[in-house]
Amino acid sequence: MTRILRTVTETRAAIAELAARAGAEPDKARLALVPTMGALHDGHRALIRLARERAEIVIVSIFVNPLQFAPDEDLDRYPRTPEADLAVLEAEGVHAAFMPAVAEMYPDLEHVTTVSAGEAGRILEGEYRPTHFDGVLTVVAKLFNIIRPDIAVFGEKDAQQLALVRRMVRDLDFPLEIVAHPIVREADGLARSSRNAYLGEEERGIALTLKRALDAVEAAAPRGRDDAIAAGRAVYDAQALASMDYLELVDAATFAPIDDTFAGEALALTAARIGTTRLIDNRPVAMRH
Ligand code: AMP
Repeated sequence: MTRILRTVTETRAAIAELAARAGAEPDKARLALVPTMGALHDGHRALIRLARERAEIVIVSIFVNPLQFAPDEDLDRYPRTPEADLAVLEAEGVHAAFMPAVAEMYPDLEHVTTVSAGEAGRILEGEYRPTHFDGVLTVVAKLFNIIRPDIAVFGEKDAQQLALVRRMVRDLDFPLEIVAHPIVREADGLARSSRNAYLGEEERGIALTLKRALDAVEAAAPRGRDDAIAAGRAVYDAQALASMDYLELVDAATFAPIDDTFAGEALALTAARIGTTRLIDNRPVAMRH
C-alpha cells in the first residue's frame, strides 16, 4: 500500500516507521525520493523503477509548485490527476506519496525565503523563465529537508534543472546523492511530458519539430558548433507552427556555451512553443572539430 502523506509532521513520523520496518538494520535502509508535479507518465515510472533499484524505501512527492510558475504561465491549468497517479504509485510499489497542500509547503507564500540558482539559472530556460529555477531549487531544498533522502532521482529531460540541483547539493552541502535517468520518449521520439496532454492532434505532430531539430544538430555536429546550430534552426524555420525559444549547444560538463572550435561532449538543448504549449528537449552530442 502506498501511504498518502499530506503534512511535514506526519511525513517525518511515517519515514521513521518505514525505516524501522525495512529490515534488521533500519539505519542501513536507504531512502530514495522522486520529486514530481504529478500527471505521472512513463518517464516518471522509469525514475521510480530506478529509485526502487537503488533504495529499500521509495517516496514520490507530487506537488505542483506555485513558486516555479510565472504569473502568465500554466499553474492553474497544469494537469492534476491524483487518483490515476496513486494507481501508478501502487503498481510501482512506492511506499509513500508526499502530496502536500500549497499552504503546508508555503504558509506565507508572499514572503518565502528562496534559494537562488545564480547566473546558471538565468541562461537558456532561465532567460525565458527568469524566476523558474529559484522556485525549483527552493522546493527541492524543502523536499530534501522534509524527507531527508539518501538519494534523489531526476530526469535528464530537464537537463538544466538537473545540473542546477547537482550544483545546489554541492554548494549547500546537502548530504545525498543525485541520480539521473535518461529521457523517456514516445515511439516516434517525442520526449514524454505531462504537458503533452495539452497538445491537439495536429500539434502532436508538430511537437516532433524539437526532436527533429536535435537530430539535425547531431548530424551536423562534425562540422562544428555554428553549422550544427544553423542546421537545427533550419528545421524550425521550415515549420511555421513551431515557435523556437532557443536552440543552444553547451559544454555538457559545465553548461557553459561552446564556440565553433569546441571538441568533446556537448549538450544540445531546445525549447519551443506549439500553440500555447511550451515544450523542451535535449540531446548529448559529441562535437568533433
Ligand atoms: P515533472 O513532474 O515534469 O516535474 O518531472 C518530475 C521528474 O521527472 C523530473 O526529474 C523530470 O526530469 C522527470 N521527467 C519528466 N519527464 C521525463 C521523461 N520523459 N524522461 C525522463 N525523465 C522525465
